[in-house]
Amino acid sequence: MAMTIDPDTCTACGDCKPICPTKSIKSGKVFYTIDPATCTECAGENDSPMCVNVCPSGAIGPL
Ligand code: SF4
Ligand code: SF4
Repeated sequence: MAMTIDPDTCTACGDCKPICPTKSIKSGKVFYTIDPATCTECAGENDSPMCVNVCPSGAIGPL
């Protein structure tokens, strides 16, 4: 139960990191990453993964 970021599609825009309720998103110079150990897919916070909703590049999907 975790989301993942496609490194080839992520533009490192930074939009996803501040909205993550579990602080699972780590920044990078070329692409961002999601820690699968702490990502809850926003369970209990939102009906769908919030990072997917904000990503302008469509880079985030199921692990
Ligand atoms: S699905 Fe939710 S908990 Fe997981 S990385 Fe995205 S915003 Fe964070
Ligand atoms: S919002 Fe999308 S493109 Fe921007 S840093 Fe996050 S995963 Fe990468």
